[in-house]
Amino acid sequence: MSVPRFVIKKNMNKSSVTGKSMQNFLTDAVLRDVCLRITGQEEYTVDFVGNDYEDDCLPESYNKGRLAVLKYGDKNAFISFSEEEAKGRNSAVQSVGTAFNIYYQSEAENKELYYYFLGAGVRFQTEFFMNAYRQMQTIGFRFLNAEVLDLAIVSYGSVEDFISSRKIAAQKNRSNKASYVTKERFKDIEIYGKTYGANKYDAAMLGFTASVLAKRHGQHITLYEILEKNLRHMPESCARTLKLMGNVDIVPTDLEFDRKQFTENNSLRSPRYKSNLLGRVGIKRCALCNCEIPEIIQGAHVWPVSIIKKQPLTFDEQLRHAISGDNGIWLCENHHKLFDENIIRFDNAGKLDISGVGKAARAFIMKITDEDRIPSVYHSAGFFEYLALRNRAAGL
Ligand SMILES: [Zn+2]
Repeated sequence: MSVPRFVIKKNMNKSSVTGKSMQNFLTDAVLRDVCLRITGQEEYTVDFVGNDYEDDCLPESYNKGRLAVLKYGDKNAFISFSEEEAKGRNSAVQSVGTAFNIYYQSEAENKELYYYFLGAGVRFQTEFFMNAYRQMQTIGFRFLNAEVLDLAIVSYGSVEDFISSRKIAAQKNRSNKASYVTKERFKDIEIYGKTYGANKYDAAMLGFTASVLAKRHGQHITLYEILEKNLRHMPESCARTLKLMGNVDIVPTDLEFDRKQFTENNSLRSPRYKSNLLGRVGIKRCALCNCEIPEIIQGAHVWPVSIIKKQPLTFDEQLRHAISGDNGIWLCENHHKLFDENIIRFDNAGKLDISGVGKAARAFIMKITDEDRIPSVYHSAGFFEYLALRNRAAGL
């Protein structure tokens, strides 16, 4: 076999300003180690090339994704390198997402995808990073020196597995609530992705991971981009990868989308409403029976859309109430219907009231209901205002 050859774009983003290039951290010791671990031999050559160099394994212009390519035999190994120190979550996720895009979109044959830790791994094993590695391994990254971590990286087995691990992380860490994966029906996975600022690559990584897992069971993914005022879509390169993956539809949802939904129906299947509710209280779980089967959990309006539409308010004011995360509870289909029909009521303090229900129905409701009041996670001034408005409208 001929000597393995690294080809590496030396300039990074803003190299001319920062003075930093790939050569700063890709020392001989690092490259030799990488070469040995991939090919079994230590001897290599390396070409640090300029922005104009063309190769179908490399990005155009400067180095993106902290990427090196090692050509050996007829193989092309794409290797993305960690930061030397775990500086920011976002830059780490961004370079991984970018490396995956370049790998996935490359037309080179015999592609392999690797990740290499620079520096001491212990700094990189917070829960956030461990979850990121699980996603990376799931989408095909192979870790060259995972022994620098104390913990093992375990791939996700299914979308359901992935969703439930995200739930646990979201419960522990309320600050990480930019994007959500959930399930509407078995074949119908939904991602609500906020795609502005630091979140844009996080939404894309969720999409990559869910796509790979969903393929195993013929499931389909809808990724709703929750666009804010500045209307930032996810990076175009990520959108292109998701499209190539073949089972992901990206649906951009701006306020115009919600206006249309609001005008056309009263149930308001608005991605933004669901995203706001997920952002406010987290996971889909019935507030009354704690059922967590996502297929039968729905966002129930506290102040109903049909009532909101009758208010002497401007259209945008009405819409604001209709999509507010304060104006909702997750309920299973049974409890949702009972709530909509005002068979189940709550007083203005959130206490369950089924006193007006007949004996047999009451026995059934008690059988299927665990909670006697709205769980505290929902309690906010806005929520109780909506509850009072609901009760007033129902003449309660
Ligand atoms: Zn329920």
